[in-house]
Amino acid sequence: MIPEAALKKISDIVGADHLISAVENLAEYGTDATKLEFMPDAVAFPGKSEEISRILHLASETGFPVVPRGAGSGMSGGALPVKGGLVISMNRLNSILLIDQDNLIARVEPGVITAHLQEAVEKVGLFYPPDPASLNISTIGGNVAECAGGLKAVKYGVTRDYVLGLEVVLPTGEIINTGVETMKGVAGYDLTRLITGSEGTLAVITAVTLRLIPKPAANRTMIAFFPDVSSAVQTVSDIIRNKIIPTILEFLDRLCINCVREELGLTMPRESGAMLLIEVDGDEELVAREVEIIREVCNRGGAIKFEAASGQKEADRLWEARRNVSPSLFKLSPHKISEDIVVPRSTMAELAILLDELARRYDLPVAAFGHAGDGNIHVNIMLDKEDPNQLNNAQTVVKELFKKVIDMGGTITGEHGIGITKAPYLEMEIPRAGLDLMTLIKKAFDPKGILNPGKIFL
Ligand SMILES: Cc1cc2nc3c(=O)[nH]c(=O)nc-3n(C[C@H](O)[C@H](O)[C@H](O)COP(=O)(O)OP(=O)(O)OC[C@H]3O[C@@H](n4cnc5c(N)ncnc54)[C@H](O)[C@@H]3O)c2cc1C
Repeated sequence: MIPEAALKKISDIVGADHLISAVENLAEYGTDATKLEFMPDAVAFPGKSEEISRILHLASETGFPVVPRGAGSGMSGGALPVKGGLVISMNRLNSILLIDQDNLIARVEPGVITAHLQEAVEKVGLFYPPDPASLNISTIGGNVAECAGGLKAVKYGVTRDYVLGLEVVLPTGEIINTGVETMKGVAGYDLTRLITGSEGTLAVITAVTLRLIPKPAANRTMIAFFPDVSSAVQTVSDIIRNKIIPTILEFLDRLCINCVREELGLTMPRESGAMLLIEVDGDEELVAREVEIIREVCNRGGAIKFEAASGQKEADRLWEARRNVSPSLFKLSPHKISEDIVVPRSTMAELAILLDELARRYDLPVAAFGHAGDGNIHVNIMLDKEDPNQLNNAQTVVKELFKKVIDMGGTITGEHGIGITKAPYLEMEIPRAGLDLMTLIKKAFDPKGILNPGKIFL
């Protein structure tokens, strides 16, 4: 609970209009994409870093938890106030402060919506590639805190690869700048990289300097259907062996194809066991050449059907299946447990065999789709959570999946983070000495343990 006197001080800091504490208005800030629920005591909407600094100083003195929040689209519960306290919403810190066409950087406040930044830089011929599928709602601050990936990560990398510097407020209230505004800079430890992906547990991000690149002149979308997963994933390797790194290389398995086909009435070959959605970009000539090579590689790899879109409208039609796959899976069961494991690209066929085996052994549909180009596959275990047997089996599937993925040289999360949902499994991947060091780092930043407590570490 936040003491009444502290609540009054928070109200003085942000203004009474920018603080809510009436229970009936808090629900929205007590949940995220996990659909789990934990009520905060209050939500503040600061308009300046200095206000966040004063709030954190007060929290450190008083001992109430503070949880930073972007759009609440997180998939691992990072923004949930599991121990109550104050949620700090970044809603009002939503300005694009600078787009510098000479130095190819942008400086933004954390509440800027990812798609809004992309549109703004594209207007001047520049490109900010990180594109989580949630980009129309997610914030840059949330993307940095989670080190969000996205569809284009296979060619362009993830959020971390574009963060040059940060302004952050430490849990003790100090405001510091990390990193640089230049392409090079190695002074001291790389705090920018440490805070990126720290899931709001080390500092509150109040401004971000991002690297931009020139916007590619052209792009082209293709779709290919294969009889089975192994021919599709072999084709992924063959495309890359041909020295082509597509902008996007997405994958859907048979279960996913059947769900979207029925849901959207799409024409897809009945015998398809896997689908690849592929996009290349660059100058016109390069794009045309790469489309022809990919067509040949897909056909050689046993594609049942291959189609290259001739314009944006047709590309959008091809995209429909991928965009709708996640919600359409609820045709199979009322609930799902979604994991975002990563395996080395060359072992994806092995992963597919494992998923089939787990589905059979535990009698649950397991649907896989995602970023085949970088081995980051969204594994969806479909179940009815009201059925204790199914719930128990699904939890066993998760454990067996994580164990195997780690044995294969992969990781339990490629982009969604640990938050609360994966905290019980972190020890499977990170050795004790590593976890101890991380705990010491957390203590160094946040000696009183007030910033986003109850996350990452059990
Ligand atoms: C339909 C859908 C598709 C998605 N697709 C992808 C995808 O393709 N790739 C991907 O990586 N993720 C994806 N996600 C997950 C999610 O959108 C990302 O993790 C995103 O980065 C979260 O941003 P947010 O603004 O919603 O943050 P929130 O959910 O509000 O917060 C996420 C974490 O960031 C912290 N945080 C937020 N703002 C700050 C700040 N200013 N300072 C410090 N910490 C902060 C929070 O405390 C929390 O720990 C998807 C989610 C959905 C619902």
